[in-house]
Amino acid sequence: MGDRFAVGESPAETASAARTYEVRTLGCLMNAHDSERMAGLLEGAGYVKAAPGAPADLVVFNTCAVRENADNKLYGSLGHLAPIKASHPGMQIAVGGCLAQKDRHTVLEHAPWVDVVFGTHNIGSLPILLERARHNQQAQVEIHDSLQTFPSALPASRDSAYAAWVSISVGCNNTCTFCIVPSLRGKEVDRRPGDILAEVQALVEQGVLDVTLLGQNVNSYGVNFADPGSLASSDPTPPRDRGAFAELLRACGRIEGLERVRFTSPHPAEFTDDVIAAMAETPTVCPHLHMPLQSGSDRILKAMRRSYRRDRYLGIIDKVRCAMPHAAITTDIIVGFPGETEDDFMQTLDVVERARFTSAFTFQYSPRPGTPAAEMTDQIPKSVVQDRFNRLVVLQDRISLENNQSLVGGQVELLVAAGDGRKNAATARMSGRARDGRLVHFRPEQPGSVRPGDVVVVEITNAAPHYLIADGPMLQHRRTRAGDASERGQTPKTRGIGLGVPLVGKPQPPLIASAQCNDHATC
Ligand code: SF4
Repeated sequence: MGDRFAVGESPAETASAARTYEVRTLGCLMNAHDSERMAGLLEGAGYVKAAPGAPADLVVFNTCAVRENADNKLYGSLGHLAPIKASHPGMQIAVGGCLAQKDRHTVLEHAPWVDVVFGTHNIGSLPILLERARHNQQAQVEIHDSLQTFPSALPASRDSAYAAWVSISVGCNNTCTFCIVPSLRGKEVDRRPGDILAEVQALVEQGVLDVTLLGQNVNSYGVNFADPGSLASSDPTPPRDRGAFAELLRACGRIEGLERVRFTSPHPAEFTDDVIAAMAETPTVCPHLHMPLQSGSDRILKAMRRSYRRDRYLGIIDKVRCAMPHAAITTDIIVGFPGETEDDFMQTLDVVERARFTSAFTFQYSPRPGTPAAEMTDQIPKSVVQDRFNRLVVLQDRISLENNQSLVGGQVELLVAAGDGRKNAATARMSGRARDGRLVHFRPEQPGSVRPGDVVVVEITNAAPHYLIADGPMLQHRRTRAGDASERGQTPKTRGIGLGVPLVGKPQPPLIASAQCNDHATC
């Protein structure tokens, strides 16, 4: 490595001012939440977030191995940064996340100007690896094959004043043949309910109104509770608590001040009636179920190693609609999996027609190196995949529009969002999410009177496949603590909340909020 790409400067050269950082996230919600942890760790180590557009002293890439061409995109971005680093003394670059876990030393072979490579199991090592790279003037690569610290035991600097993600588990025990996640994130490890509830409580105390419980497979929660000593050598036959996820939803519902609880993603094979009952009976749990279908053909589900079949999937939807007639049901669908025939695809269209999803994330299958499906010989030509994809999108858009049109004239409560509407500046509208997750663009009475994080009630006046419009007067406006925090530019910070507390414990006191703030998973 030449001087041009010297790895960092001595601490003395950079000690005069706080170093600035930027985290660039590629990939799913899980990665976005890991990025909040990285930000919290870096701020704990004295870094400050770089102003938007300003060059940062540290750029961290939190990478994804699930998306197509993820490696090309990463190495393209790293190539773009090389001359910037050469002209920015002391700048460091770190690469973490799933692609770093998968490619390990390859990252440095492609981009020797990178200072630190770390994996999905050791996010907590980032500050020390950066310091070591700077001190030793040498790139540091540290990848572990099993989880070192549960990510939620690390501090986090949150992006939003009003909505937050809370991890309930990491890893996955399934083996879907198209998915690289199990080999990169490892077996499922579940966080203790007391720790989860303490983190939710800490967020609510800082104004958060909407919490999304996150896991690769949330309704297998309870399969393997983590203990402080069990991360390195987990019990091979852990006791299973099958009612744990439903209980967790109900316990979240008892947290005063929390208005909305969501979760993503459940796996249809593990979906149990007690979760539907907990959703229906807990007023703060939102009437929204995102449940990946992937294919409507039993033959393809088998080839995907998805252990449910179309009848079971449709049966769950029937039960959810019976318990919550107005629930929004959304899904993920992969088109063109190896071996998919026209008949298989027609079965997917048939399930879509019957399920009447509110919306669907639709994906064209493409092989991911390292997955069993990538080795299958009957890959589908791109033109066929594209044609099926287009037909699926036309069908789903029609259904989404019909569903949304049925809401015109009704009233909805919105949690006002920051952004979420590309044309809002031109149309003088703001955007918010209804309790069922639908995106609604509305017109505030006076500019500035409504803040992100406030709650409004509006009447729907128009519908499109992917959003609703409410152009009439606002029917209610409630100013909230989340709105106050947004107005001040403050977002929550959570300390790491440790493992092994089996009861609903007294939450740790929250840190004072600072003055600053799918792609979709494939489960
Ligand atoms: S798609 Fe989801 S459930 Fe299947 S292996 Fe991947 S992470 Fe696990």
